[in-house]
Amino acid sequence: MPSLFIDVYKSVLQTEGVSMRRNKGVSSECDTCRVNNAVVEFDSDERTDEEFRTAQYALTQHRAVIERFRGDERALQMASKRNVQIKKRDGVFHWMKDKAANKNTSVPFTPLTHAKGKDANSVTIPLHFMMMAMYGAGVCIPLALPWIKTKANYNCTCSWVGLVLLSKRLGYIPQELSEHVDRGDENISLVSMGFFGTLVSSDLVRSSYISAHFSGHCHGGADGENQHL
Ligand SMILES: [Zn+2]
Repeated sequence: MPSLFIDVYKSVLQTEGVSMRRNKGVSSECDTCRVNNAVVEFDSDERTDEEFRTAQYALTQHRAVIERFRGDERALQMASKRNVQIKKRDGVFHWMKDKAANKNTSVPFTPLTHAKGKDANSVTIPLHFMMMAMYGAGVCIPLALPWIKTKANYNCTCSWVGLVLLSKRLGYIPQELSEHVDRGDENISLVSMGFFGTLVSSDLVRSSYISAHFSGHCHGGADGENQHL
């Protein structure tokens, strides 16, 4: 049975005429890249010059858009680091959230290439890892036991845990939140939009901005970004 929150929330969405497009596919490849790259790599007798030019043009446009999005995100990361440094509570605070694939999170861990014979663990537990890179503040890694479903409820709980730890560390709650996610399970869903909307309507933050890049181009360099924090 849905919770009272979800019931009320859905009725508000209906009244306000809010809808959103679902497009999952976190690390799956990008169709635009795949199709147009294939055309460009065809032998010249397998495609026309016109098809070649069209594919090249589409790729150029596509990459320009991705670079612009990445530039926007990079700017948010830099602004966030600066704002934390000078303790500007009204400034933007940017974070990036990503779950580790379950096949990599068994504890104790032995790589598949070595997990044979005496090297194999007789029992392993697939713990759920969430990594939250908080630009300027550090990294928060919530862990969850294997029977927890890692859907919207888990995502929002991790964001909440991160926000509580962050506010304890900074002594305030940054007022302009900006969160970057990939297109993993329910990262972008009605429940998670409702969660961030509720932070705003409860006057905990002034605004909340959620972004996700195209599937196949989700994090760019952001995955390795925690080493710079
Ligand atoms: Zn692409």
